[in-house]
Amino acid sequence: MPQQSQIEYFHGFGQSTGADAYVFAPETPEQILEVFELARSLGKSVSFAGARRSYGSPMMTSEGLVISLRNFDTIGPIEDDSVLVGGGVTLSQLWQAVAPLGYWPNVVSGTSKITVAGAIAMNIHGKNAFKLGNIGEHVSEISLVSPAQQGRDLDAIGSMGLFGAIVSARLDLQRIESASVSVTARAPRTWGEHLQLFDEFASQSDYMVSWVDLHHRAGRGLFHAAEYSNSGSPLTARQSRESPLFGVVPRDQAWLMLKALNNPALTKGLNAAKYLSGKILAGNKAHAQTLAEFNFLLDALPGWERAYANGLVQFQAFVPSERAESVFVELQDLQFRHRIVSSLGVLKKHRASPQVLPYAVYGYSLALDFGKTRGLELLCQEMAEAVIAGGGRFYLAKDSTLTADQYQRSLPDGAFAEFRQLKQKYDPENILQSIQSRHLGLT
Ligand SMILES: Cc1cc2nc3c(=O)[nH]c(=O)nc-3n(C[C@H](O)[C@H](O)[C@H](O)COP(=O)(O)OP(=O)(O)OC[C@H]3O[C@@H](n4cnc5c(N)ncnc54)[C@H](O)[C@@H]3O)c2cc1C
Repeated sequence: MPQQSQIEYFHGFGQSTGADAYVFAPETPEQILEVFELARSLGKSVSFAGARRSYGSPMMTSEGLVISLRNFDTIGPIEDDSVLVGGGVTLSQLWQAVAPLGYWPNVVSGTSKITVAGAIAMNIHGKNAFKLGNIGEHVSEISLVSPAQQGRDLDAIGSMGLFGAIVSARLDLQRIESASVSVTARAPRTWGEHLQLFDEFASQSDYMVSWVDLHHRAGRGLFHAAEYSNSGSPLTARQSRESPLFGVVPRDQAWLMLKALNNPALTKGLNAAKYLSGKILAGNKAHAQTLAEFNFLLDALPGWERAYANGLVQFQAFVPSERAESVFVELQDLQFRHRIVSSLGVLKKHRASPQVLPYAVYGYSLALDFGKTRGLELLCQEMAEAVIAGGGRFYLAKDSTLTADQYQRSLPDGAFAEFRQLKQKYDPENILQSIQSRHLGLT
């Protein structure tokens, strides 16, 4: 039998949903099949856990069996600008292995602390989603171990662990000349100016992202566009800042400082200070950052999520271009009306990307962070209605508040039926389930 741990309590990144489960760490595909067999005999469900960086509960099943593929951790040689990696390899391990050879993964998320399998199962996007789409478009091969069949199957892209175990995958890489990007900053004063900047910079940029001050009615913020640089930092696996913050605070202790500052009045002041300081620097000539610093900004403050004492909820809406501004303004109005205003808002530009249960659209996403508080669930549900009315969609890696009805209404016609067909093909006995998949009526 595969290695078995004691019953373990774990939670998603938002720390607000948790469950007990038996966690297995198989070493071979056969041992994964043995866990499926054990689940059948016990009448239990199985879920897969990567690095547990999703905010809610797609990686856990209560009192069931959880499979971790942490032992599938090999990184193969680069061939034809692609690499075969085990599902348990983290993006951090991957970029550190390929950057010194002059390569960078085509799509990475805002944290590098996730696994390749978790990235594919959720079909992650990066700050270059407007240009390269989601990670699934850069995966040419997947080795999948399912309850009903085994083989190579790209159907697993975006399947949220509900079709089988992603044991390994071949990812396309891009060549880089240096580990630097050249970053241009602007300080948009309104929602409309943010969206105009995304359009203006799209053709000349490799990455774009905008921070929004939700406490400011007009939606001011800071926009950043980055281009790969031919010169700059050498191609090394060490690209991040490790020095203490302000010269004295160890980075892994910085969350204690953030926790002390984390109340609505101070958050409003901090947002204003961030805008004003950024505005002074914006418009000056472009500055250089390493690829890791630019892409994985929050990794520089390990444990920052613990600054939210009662847990962290993220609401992320994907809205088609023509409705994006009006829907985002409506989401902000709802926050003011409920007197619960997001502490951190981030905008990105996207294009549609194929997958089962798609979430990306030709348009924009707005990610809103909230400390868990009374009334938040109702606010999120009202915001979800505004998004659905605007033809928008949701990304389940971030969700913990949608109802099944809302999620299913947000899907394009036929997507749910197609999911059901594939579920029947890979897992006809419905062994693979998560708390989230049950809550949303997917399993
Ligand atoms: C600070 C932060 C920033 C983020 N930024 C972004 C961003 O910019 N863009 C973005 O798209 N996402 C972003 N995310 C979300 C994150 O990238 C996704 O939630 C990702 O799926 C997490 O991967 P994981 O390895 O932690 O997987 P988990 O969260 O543990 O699991 C995610 C899903 O993958 C499934 N899974 C895990 N392993 C396997 C396997 N071996 N086989 C089959 N299924 C499996 C799980 O069952 C689950 O459904 C961010 C998260 C954080 C915390």
